[in-house]
Amino acid sequence: MEDPGAQRTDFSRSTRNYREPSPQGGQPGGGEMLVKITRIDCHVLLDPGMDVRATSSAQDDLVVEIHTDEGLVGIGESDLNPWIARACIEAPGTHAMGLGLREMLIGQDPLQVEAHWERLYVGSAMNGRRGAVIHALGALDIALHDLRGKALGRPCHALLGASRPDPVVPYASLQPDVSDFDAYLVSVVEWAREAKRVGFRAAKLEITPAGPYAHKGLRAPYERMREPIAAVRDAVGSEFTIMVDVQYAFPDAETCLKTIRGWDEYGVYFLETPLPSDDLAGYARVSREQPIPIAAGEWLATRFEFLELMERGRVRVVQPDVGRVGGLTEARRVCGLAAQRGLTIVPHAWKTGISIAAAAHLATVTPNCAFIEFLPAELCESALRRDLVRRGPRMVDGVISLPDAPGLGIELDRDALVRFEETAARAAR
Ligand SMILES: [Mg+2]
Repeated sequence: MEDPGAQRTDFSRSTRNYREPSPQGGQPGGGEMLVKITRIDCHVLLDPGMDVRATSSAQDDLVVEIHTDEGLVGIGESDLNPWIARACIEAPGTHAMGLGLREMLIGQDPLQVEAHWERLYVGSAMNGRRGAVIHALGALDIALHDLRGKALGRPCHALLGASRPDPVVPYASLQPDVSDFDAYLVSVVEWAREAKRVGFRAAKLEITPAGPYAHKGLRAPYERMREPIAAVRDAVGSEFTIMVDVQYAFPDAETCLKTIRGWDEYGVYFLETPLPSDDLAGYARVSREQPIPIAAGEWLATRFEFLELMERGRVRVVQPDVGRVGGLTEARRVCGLAAQRGLTIVPHAWKTGISIAAAAHLATVTPNCAFIEFLPAELCESALRRDLVRRGPRMVDGVISLPDAPGLGIELDRDALVRFEETAARAAR
């Protein structure tokens, strides 16, 4: 059925002025730049139901669109405060190594994706190298990969490397929207049952009744944290994979080790971010002194931070967020470093179908990727995530089905984009 709100891209002209870069690099067509980046739009979006006490980053969004003189548009997004992200992209430079990200891309050939990553990283080094600037760079890198795919008429994964033989398996993240622990217990079991019913083979329980990440003030003593794990295991049976994310709940390794003793009896596939991000010695100790694999990495930027996490933090499950880490280009490098160390990749994705598509393309070319994070509309509280993207990856029989369309294979709902953009504009007044 025709969808008047969806963005239309004319793929009939995809290959007119674009050719694959030569194996030696350089411009396609022997040095002549055929197509140029002409404009970059930064859309700051806000969910009308945004609650600042909620620990969900699906309440806001920074979506970028990179335009070319040929009329093709690449779409990207990243997971950080969108006003900060927009400033990282749009601010003009004031130093040879303190340039704005947008000004470095305007007029450039969009096909030189990996070369652009290096230019942006070096050119913004005095402002960035880590944190917000790299997260914003990630949105642009995703958009460049999307644009290259559209230009060459091929899906992103086909341009990223060889596809793995086995399908990409999603897991559902379950974070009931309640602030009372007893109500949480009931909801999380219902949601886990629903996840299994709609075809998921795995789900992650967000259990955070303590620490700075407690959702809407949810509070309970540490000893009660095992209750939802036991109840969900009972409800879904032994074949279903359960992950647990405690979202920085414990102040130190000692408290963590004491609390999680015996959780392995419930068959916990991994335990995510038990400690503050910078306590790498604590992570190493928790990894060493108990049997559940420790997972982390959702906030990290660049392969250099991941190297620290792997080498010093000794995690066994590595969780790059494609936008935050610096885009598909940098996420690929992190996956390679994890593979060299025999570690499992499970990408973080808590934004819209743009990030989920990017994670799915990444997983398709990453043999050591066990699962991707994925929320279908039925298990999602965020209007932004439900409404912004059309034709994204779908789950069929418990595995991810990626559309064959060029690039990321997604389309934006323009009406939703305008609506969320207006909400953000009102909030900023
Ligand atoms: Mg998490």
